[in-house]
Amino acid sequence: MVRRTLSLSLPVLAISLALPPAVQGQSLEALQEEVRGEVASPELQKLSQVIVDKLYSFSELGFQEFWTLEFVTGILEREGFNVQTGCAGMPTCYVATWGSGRPVIGFMGDMDCLPETSQKPGVPWQEAMIPLGPGHGEGHNSTPAVDIVAAIATKRVMERHGMPGSLKVIPGVAEELVASRNYMVTAGLFEGMDVMLSTHISSGMSTGYGISGSGLVSTQFTFHGTSAHSAGSPWSGRSALDAVELMDVGWNFRREHLRLQQRSHSIISHGGNQPNVVPSEATVWYYFRELDYPRIKELHELGETMAEAAAMMTGTTVTERVLGAAWPSNMSKPLAEVMHAAIQEVGMPEWTEDDQALAKAVQAMMGRDTTGLATEVSDTLREASQGMGGGSDDIAEVSWNVPTVRLRYSGNIPGMTAHHWSSGIAMATPMAHKGANYGSRVIAMTAIAVASDPELVEEAWRYYREVTTKDYTWESLIPEGTEPPIHLNADKMEKYRPLIEPFIYDETRFETYLEQLGVTYPTLTKPGAVSEGR
Ligand SMILES: [Zn+2]
Repeated sequence: MVRRTLSLSLPVLAISLALPPAVQGQSLEALQEEVRGEVASPELQKLSQVIVDKLYSFSELGFQEFWTLEFVTGILEREGFNVQTGCAGMPTCYVATWGSGRPVIGFMGDMDCLPETSQKPGVPWQEAMIPLGPGHGEGHNSTPAVDIVAAIATKRVMERHGMPGSLKVIPGVAEELVASRNYMVTAGLFEGMDVMLSTHISSGMSTGYGISGSGLVSTQFTFHGTSAHSAGSPWSGRSALDAVELMDVGWNFRREHLRLQQRSHSIISHGGNQPNVVPSEATVWYYFRELDYPRIKELHELGETMAEAAAMMTGTTVTERVLGAAWPSNMSKPLAEVMHAAIQEVGMPEWTEDDQALAKAVQAMMGRDTTGLATEVSDTLREASQGMGGGSDDIAEVSWNVPTVRLRYSGNIPGMTAHHWSSGIAMATPMAHKGANYGSRVIAMTAIAVASDPELVEEAWRYYREVTTKDYTWESLIPEGTEPPIHLNADKMEKYRPLIEPFIYDETRFETYLEQLGVTYPTLTKPGAVSEGR
């Protein structure tokens, strides 16, 4: 657990009495205005668009974000960031650092995509570019654009005014697997960091503070049996698949008697090879979700009991491989207040009639209310609530170790199904280009506020000590010594890379990815679509 000691904080208190001389005479408002202008420059708007489109075309699954890594670290290196790759035992993890001294400001967002969400962008119908292929069906392709453009603009303003401080861009590797941040924390990647500014795609622009979402343990149980001829001598076999099925049946009966807040789901990752061979190995992959650390732990232990019981019933044995874990996230109020004020200044992107027309066409296609894109930012800063739980995000692991805030920036169309091809349609169009650039403005304005006001860092750490970690101190839900599961998705990407390659965006030849794909903007109807009433 990364914890600031009092002795480390004292020097900061001493310098907090006055801004660094070079910043004196510059009000925070002026610095924020300057950094916002930097992000909004034609050069950085173009960079937002190129990153958004390029990463959409890469469509790389978690732990296999190698093209993405090379592309974004190249940009950061050209901007004078010092890049280290392969951090925390993950080949696609990197830390890009610029500057020196305190404060140390982190920029973090996801970059991986989802299986089965391949989608041609900018068209109001389902059209996989690669059938059943991976795709950005959540919009993580836009997040590195938000972070990188914000970090570049912040760097330029800090440089101009001789402001001390360090910027660190770190990616949310394999967020869709909730399987990287825990390993980053235990590897010490956030030690010495003052604040973390994180981002996530949305259809609106907002931030909040407090505890939200579910936490989880993601784990695989592999049963080991004995193979045999399924018809010739089934009595000499012991089926590992039987154990998987009995574990699932047992879990589904027990589910009725669990708290309603738990959420658990599984897939069979390996169920044998062909029916006439008794499966000697079978693997089931579970996500066990609950609302706090003790309950997540308890649910996970119940799963282990079910697995052992299934092994006993079938005469097999079982081994377990924990892949990932996260607590629910717990965001910082002092940082959220500064970010919220920046959101009010920046406002929503100026959507064109074309943006609104496509958004409404997509909403109609999905059978949703045709309200179009949101035009107002939320003017109230909300404390999060967990309610009955839901999804998880392993930025949570960071939030319990460093004061962290999360921006939800616009770019997606309201009403889309999450983790679904429909959430990819807008993600390589002007909606995502503008959304990402506006997101960068908010992040950069928050970063410059942190860089110019050491008291804000102190306040964030005070809140962290007195509120965030008042009831709980973070402990890992992953057994000590577990390695990051970097093998995940390797086979899938090996299969899909040759199919993706012809679709990679060439920014040297085409203004936008839509232009490369020959999609006119906006496209509102499917060519040759049959009229209703047939
Ligand atoms: Zn996400």
